[in-house]
Amino acid sequence: MKGFEYLQEELDQMKEEGTFRTLVSIESEQGSKVVINGKEVIQLSSNNYLGLTTHPRLKQAALQAVNEYGAGTGSVRTIAGTFSMHDELEKKLAKFKHTEAALVFQSGFTTNQGVLSSILTNQDVVISDALNHASIIDGIRLTKAARKVYKHVDMNDLEKALQETQQYRKRIIVTDGVFSMDGNIAPLPQIVELAEKYDALVMVDDAHASGVLGENGRGTVNHFNLDGRVHIQVGTLSKAVGVLGGYIASTQTLIDYLIHKGRPFLFSTSHPPAVTAACIEAVDVLLEEPELIEKLWDNTEFFKEGLQKLGFQTGTSETPITPIFVGGESLAHQFSDKLLEYGVFAQGIAFPTVERGKARVRTIVTAQHSRDELEKALEIFEKAGKELGILR
Ligand code: PMP
Repeated sequence: MKGFEYLQEELDQMKEEGTFRTLVSIESEQGSKVVINGKEVIQLSSNNYLGLTTHPRLKQAALQAVNEYGAGTGSVRTIAGTFSMHDELEKKLAKFKHTEAALVFQSGFTTNQGVLSSILTNQDVVISDALNHASIIDGIRLTKAARKVYKHVDMNDLEKALQETQQYRKRIIVTDGVFSMDGNIAPLPQIVELAEKYDALVMVDDAHASGVLGENGRGTVNHFNLDGRVHIQVGTLSKAVGVLGGYIASTQTLIDYLIHKGRPFLFSTSHPPAVTAACIEAVDVLLEEPELIEKLWDNTEFFKEGLQKLGFQTGTSETPITPIFVGGESLAHQFSDKLLEYGVFAQGIAFPTVERGKARVRTIVTAQHSRDELEKALEIFEKAGKELGILR
């Protein structure tokens, strides 16, 4: 059918530049190894930090929920789609995050969009870190609020933005807790201090910190002992929690407001029973099996050090997300392809996901990886890195 030639031109250009990608299909369950094109490879691309996607307790909870409650809910939350298990999960999340209340959205993406688009008007301003996640950027685009972007983790620039915006009714500072492409942690104590000095709200997207940082994986706010001083904590249920969804943990006032005004919450069907039941079980696993988080950090240290010893440029990463910078866009994809050929799945990430010239292969270790698997992965990185001239 004719009509999309104008899009095809752009795709053709990507093919010429070597940045056109096809989706990689996994033919097994998610785990430390996965099957791709019929071959078992070491998985270093997932956000399944604790291996919960296949945890027996989560699987059992999901199966039981399907048997008892069926496959779907048949409605949005505000009409007929709130089941008692949704309430149970939200109470559990609020307790876990040490907040008054919590509200679950369909994804982390819609959580950021939903909250930012609903709580700000043209009387307000949002002040956002330059490397915040796309869902924060899109949420900001949907508000009528003024916006200021401060240089990545630059506290002088943030203070300047706060000084320049004193005329607004409300100011909200938004930051990722852990930055998804670089793996560095936001300087939350300084952000909170500045927010308190200038009377601004703080919102933290802890997608990559929930289940990873803080006591039992409570996130960056708890990691920095800032409980009660951050107004909005966003979490995902799709990464370390191993299932699907996102949530806000905050005050009862904000949760009540979002129930009335959060558009993805209002206008999209609620999570099916299997998803909700597995998330409830996952929070219990976080509380009862802290050894998973210990193993995750053990593996993180071992693998990061291994990459650095080999001579790879890993930037400012402090978490299980470790990027390997290679520079050129097409080199990142070539590197990723070669790694896959030799038995490691680690995705190349290039513009527009990251700035031009900052292309990388991003690795994420999990608690499921064995030492043998990580050692083997390091050997493969060394071999592929040398062949492509990334390592001397
Ligand atoms: N925030 C950040 C920082 C993320 O990395 C992601 C996932 N890519 C999201 C939000 C969105 O979460 P979800 O996948 O649950 O929609």
